[in-house]
Amino acid sequence: MAGKRDYYEVLGIQKNATEDEIKKAYRKLAVKYHPDRNPGDKEAEEKFKEATEAYEVLSDDQKRPIYDQYGFAGLDGMGGGGGGYSHAFHDFSDLFGGMGGMGGGFSDIFENIFGGGGRSSRRRPDEPSQGQSLRYDLNITFKDAVYGTKAEITFQHNEACTECGGTGGAKGSKRKPCPTCGGSGQVRRQAGFFAVQQTCPACGGVGTKIDNPCKKCRGTGYETVTKKMSLTIPAGVDDGKRIAIPRMGDVGANGGPAGDLIVVLHVEQHEYFERDGRDLYCAIPVTFAQAALGVTLDITSLDGKKIKFALPAGTTNGKLYKIKGEGVPYAEGRKGDLYVKIIVQIPTRLNSEQKRLMEEFARIENATTSPSCVPLSSLSR
Ligand SMILES: [Zn+2]
Ligand SMILES: [Zn+2]
Repeated sequence: MAGKRDYYEVLGIQKNATEDEIKKAYRKLAVKYHPDRNPGDKEAEEKFKEATEAYEVLSDDQKRPIYDQYGFAGLDGMGGGGGGYSHAFHDFSDLFGGMGGMGGGFSDIFENIFGGGGRSSRRRPDEPSQGQSLRYDLNITFKDAVYGTKAEITFQHNEACTECGGTGGAKGSKRKPCPTCGGSGQVRRQAGFFAVQQTCPACGGVGTKIDNPCKKCRGTGYETVTKKMSLTIPAGVDDGKRIAIPRMGDVGANGGPAGDLIVVLHVEQHEYFERDGRDLYCAIPVTFAQAALGVTLDITSLDGKKIKFALPAGTTNGKLYKIKGEGVPYAEGRKGDLYVKIIVQIPTRLNSEQKRLMEEFARIENATTSPSCVPLSSLSR
């Protein structure tokens, strides 16, 4: 795989590009380098293939996180990144729909270039295919998402049957033509007036059946196993992040690679803190007098550290103060910041002494109310 360009570089997009940006970038390149527009131009064809491959991986919910984490190596044997253009092919009408003038013949051209189309519904019995990828939803606390943690996960996946090694046949058994479909893999079924062609339910379209199925797995070739593993959650993960664990999904058929286990993280809300990227936010209520005169605040950071913060006199309601380096860790020894929002509380119930002092305060202040409205913007700082 030497000399391969990074997929993001190929499409000219950022690592955090959205689905839409990926699609747009690919569409642009596909139109520019499409062989139909560059007949006989080998370089354009290469560029076109390169872009299509990058798109095929980055537009795939399962392949993209694997590529992000492990690069090309993670995709080896996944049936993508190397040869299969099926996904991009599939999405084509969506990509190029509504492009006046470019419509006709696109899919034909694709079939010519990639030899696609010939995806017969009939599988050969010995054809390797990749196992199913599995999804695991994991809830983690707000704090664990910020600082990272280790999680134990328990899940079930299919592994090759230990009795028959995944073949599905007992010792000495053979594959014989399927008696239900006579080996064609298809059966005809009458549906009202029509006869419809259907994949044979007895052999799954393969056309052959094992004459003596393995007792342990009843001929399926796999057994369901409960797995336990420890997973490292890095610091600073976002809600919805996917962590791909290659080859921990279901076993593939006929020696095909296993699918992946995709762990989807769900970050719980915190009682006090909120997060925006690398920064944390919390709110601290102070009284009207504390805001006017200034006060020392005792703040407990997310990791339990006690911080003294001198609130200056004359702090207005809603003011944000930054406490450096108390946010989310994002690189070796580096952290975002903690923002404290000051909420000034106006007393709703005054005792007689407070009332007397407040009246005295008002007398000295000698303020009049404004006779008419002022623009809201004139009040915001
Ligand atoms: Zn078996
Ligand atoms: Zn059959």
